Amino acid sequence: MSNTSYKEDLQHPVFGVVSEASAALGLESYVIGGFVRDLILGRENKKDIDIVAVGSGIALAQQVADMLPRKPKVQVFKNYGTAMLRFEDTDIEFVGARKESYQSESRNPVVENGTLEDDQDRRDFTINALALSLNRDNFGTLLDPFNGLKDLESKIIRTPLNPDITYSDDPLRMLRAIRFATQLGFNIEAESLESISKNKERINIISGERIVDELNKILSVKKPSTGFILLYKTGLLDLILPELTALNQVEEIEGHTHKNNFYHTLEVVDNISENTEDVWLRWAALLHDIGKAPTKRFFKKQGWTFHGHEFVGGKMVKKIFERLHMPLNQKMKFVQKMVMMSSRPIVLSQEIVTDSAVRRLVFDAGEDVENLMTLCEADITTKNAIKFKKYHQNFDLVRRKIVEVEERDHVRNFQPPVTGEEIMEIFNLKPSREIGILKEAIKEAILEGEIPNEYEAAYQFMMEKAEKMGLKTM
Ligand code: ATP
Ligand code: MG
Repeated sequence: MSNTSYKEDLQHPVFGVVSEASAALGLESYVIGGFVRDLILGRENKKDIDIVAVGSGIALAQQVADMLPRKPKVQVFKNYGTAMLRFEDTDIEFVGARKESYQSESRNPVVENGTLEDDQDRRDFTINALALSLNRDNFGTLLDPFNGLKDLESKIIRTPLNPDITYSDDPLRMLRAIRFATQLGFNIEAESLESISKNKERINIISGERIVDELNKILSVKKPSTGFILLYKTGLLDLILPELTALNQVEEIEGHTHKNNFYHTLEVVDNISENTEDVWLRWAALLHDIGKAPTKRFFKKQGWTFHGHEFVGGKMVKKIFERLHMPLNQKMKFVQKMVMMSSRPIVLSQEIVTDSAVRRLVFDAGEDVENLMTLCEADITTKNAIKFKKYHQNFDLVRRKIVEVEERDHVRNFQPPVTGEEIMEIFNLKPSREIGILKEAIKEAILEGEIPNEYEAAYQFMMEKAEKMGLKTM
């Protein structure tokens, strides 16, 4: 990493074009930020390049587009002085070098034109302030005013300027620091870490959407607990997701203790991350026990209980999604459902696994039954090797039964074999309670395994039931 020309690494054809376009406009340009950082780290090249122009970024973008084959469309964001274009599979963003100054109540700075150095000053971390020249005379030369290269080598997240100012100016950077540390496996420099703790309350000026963007990135790494522990230690987690930090306690009464559900939760998140990339399933793991803090009770006979925590937790999921401005669509419903059902398979597997219990599980979980099983397997964090093995074996059995029962009875997307319309016709009924009763009785008989999920059997069963109810056919 000692040589400081990266000419050979700037192979992407767009760099040559930017260089020519800059010369044509008589301005300087640089590739900066994440692209340079990841290039030097040898990280997989993201399709996302940031160019800074000493002059108008918008003019440079337009010039570049004119010189590219098929002249891609330039998207201009006038208010931000930025422009973007897409070339092949890469998003290229252009910005004019700028100097920023902040007021305390907003993370939107006052902006004026500046030099490359001004622009590097406003970057969040030394490793994100690295720039490579795209100018003809020193194409590929590294411009590294804050020793970002050294920090890359020693795996350190450090702010270019005084961390108190950097974090207070734009508190989102506190989350970014933790996110980059988690993604890259870096350490946050001690002074910086202290400064995050000191400035944590400033997170309150950041929108839920931006917070969630960062949380999603933290949740998407191989071992998300690393990030959540940093969030916890700096005090940020308590401000963002107090429902989680409320789980960080162990109480003892009369010799009875319960497990620390915060650290348990983080283990579950790490476990599930080995088996799914789905960030919403990872959210479900993160929130699966949040109902345990408000439902915790101690009884002399039973010890600690968390009765109804799944239901309470499900309600809390919606509140969290609302508070953080997360989508209130089927993703929220999915997380909620996973939390509400999170104890079902384990309860089932502790008893003798009957077909009807499995049918009910598949009926209630529907399409999400595999995800639910993945969550519940991740939930096994016991350190007792015998129990660990036993639980996993039970779940294997449940999984086999799910397949068996599903092949036979098809209850996953249950459609009543006899429809309401048909019932009305057969018994000459207007919409009424009786129809509901009959439909429910058929469904129950199928789930209980009294009859197969087939038309003939259901019809027969319905006729018998109707007779007992005193209903007459036409
Ligand atoms: P990734 O794309 O992997 O998230 P990145 O470093 O490219 O990483 P972006 O959010 O795409 O991050 O931002 C591009 C660059 O803009 C960063 O490298 C950094 O220099 C600068 N930047 C982004 N957000 C901020 C911020 N909040 N404060 C200061 N500089 C920032
Ligand atoms: Mg980027």
